[in-house]
Amino acid sequence: MTTVITHAAVGLALGHAVRPARCGHRYWLACALLPAIQDADVIGFPMGIAYGDLLGHRGLSHSLAFAAFLGLATALSMGWWEKRDWRQTRHLAILFVVLAASHGPMDMLTNGGLGIALLAPFDGQRYFWDWRPILVSPIGLKNFLSPWGLAVVLNELRWFGPPLGLLVAFTLFRRYRARKA
Ligand SMILES: [Zn+2]
Repeated sequence: MTTVITHAAVGLALGHAVRPARCGHRYWLACALLPAIQDADVIGFPMGIAYGDLLGHRGLSHSLAFAAFLGLATALSMGWWEKRDWRQTRHLAILFVVLAASHGPMDMLTNGGLGIALLAPFDGQRYFWDWRPILVSPIGLKNFLSPWGLAVVLNELRWFGPPLGLLVAFTLFRRYRARKA
């Protein structure tokens, strides 16, 4: 996996770039969690679910189908709970599906573990991109707090830090210009 910190950072930066007029703590929580929650599937390891199974790590939870379901369900629930109109709910739905769908393709950049079942449940094959510059993150907090974990964080900062920083800076600049106009 890419680390959950980086997945969440991608969600927050994109959520910041296209945030709707109304965005409270639920919105920001969804932006951080939707691209990161997929790795909760590691709970399958102590439950005896094999890595390569459909419900194993990087299986169904990492698929585009699950991302569509998760993003839509979250947007519809939030739209209903916060009494948002159809246009605002549609805005949330598109963003949340994109955020949830970002996880699998990001993990496909990693250089270890099994591939990602991007097209599950229709196709069980595990996929990687041909270009895989991201060091795979160790599984488990104890393994993460190690030189390997530090190397992973530094590597992700190198690859994701500049584009995310640019996106946030561009968004702030665009809003500053809009306020001045
Ligand atoms: Zn993952």
